[in-house]
Amino acid sequence: MEEVHPKDKQAFLEEHYPFTPVVKLTDVFVCIHCREVIRVADYKVFRWSNGFLAICCPNAPACDGTVIDWMPSDMFDQ
Ligand SMILES: [Zn+2]
Repeated sequence: MEEVHPKDKQAFLEEHYPFTPVVKLTDVFVCIHCREVIRVADYKVFRWSNGFLAICCPNAPACDGTVIDWMPSDMFDQ
């Protein structure tokens, strides 16, 4: 996997984020793969072998979570 560094991370999100509404760089989620609180601004982008640009967990490549694994942090409040 090759890491890609978008010049404008918010613009990249608006183009590639798979859901609506598009999240903001200031939003915070919990990655269900590494269970860590992540800031959207810290996301990484990797180009998969099929050319797909994956928005990944800030802890990638140690964590294999992608944007679809980010859950609202309040879901984890007990
Ligand atoms: Zn993660």
